[in-house]
Amino acid sequence: MAIREIVLFGDERLRERAVEIDVKNKGWQGDAKDLVDTLIHLKERFGFGNALAAPQIGSTYRMIAFNGSMGTFLAINPIITWRSEDMFPLWDDCFSLPSASAAVMRHREISFECMDETGQPIRFPRLSGDQAQLVQHEVDHLDGILMVDRLVSPGAIIAREMMGRAVHPSLRQAAA
Ligand SMILES: [Zn+2]
Repeated sequence: MAIREIVLFGDERLRERAVEIDVKNKGWQGDAKDLVDTLIHLKERFGFGNALAAPQIGSTYRMIAFNGSMGTFLAINPIITWRSEDMFPLWDDCFSLPSASAAVMRHREISFECMDETGQPIRFPRLSGDQAQLVQHEVDHLDGILMVDRLVSPGAIIAREMMGRAVHPSLRQAAA
C-alpha cells in the first residue's frame, strides 16, 4: 500500500491532459492501487473525500477513484456523455487547493460512463446534485481543468474557514 503526496495547485502536472488507459496493458495498475489507497487514507485522516483523480497523485492516466454515495470503485477512461443546459452555482473544494473554497458553475445533470478494471462498462444514465458536480470536478482534472477555471465571477474564491461566515454580497448571490 502506497499513499502518495497530493499534487497541489501551481504544479504543472495538474494542467496536463491525462492519457487513455488500455486495460490490457498493465502499466497503469500500480498507479490505480496508489490512487485508491491515497483516497482511503484521506477519508480516514480528514473524514471526507469522495473522489480523487489520477493527476492529483502525479499519475498521467485517465482514472478516478470514487468512495462516496456513487459507490466505491475505480473509473477508467471516464466520459461525460451528456450535460444539461441548466447550470447552477455551488461552493466547491479540492484536495489540491486545501485551504480554499471556490464558487463555481456546474451543469445540473449529466450522463456519465466509464470502465472498470476489466474493461466492463459502468454507466450512470442520469446524475444530479452532489454526484453530478463531483463527476464534473473530477473529469475536469483529467483534462487539466481546475475549479479556479469555472468561477462564477473573477475572484469567487475564499479561504475555506470563511465558509458559513460573512462573505461579499456578490458571492452570496452567486452560490447561496
Ligand atoms: Zn480537485
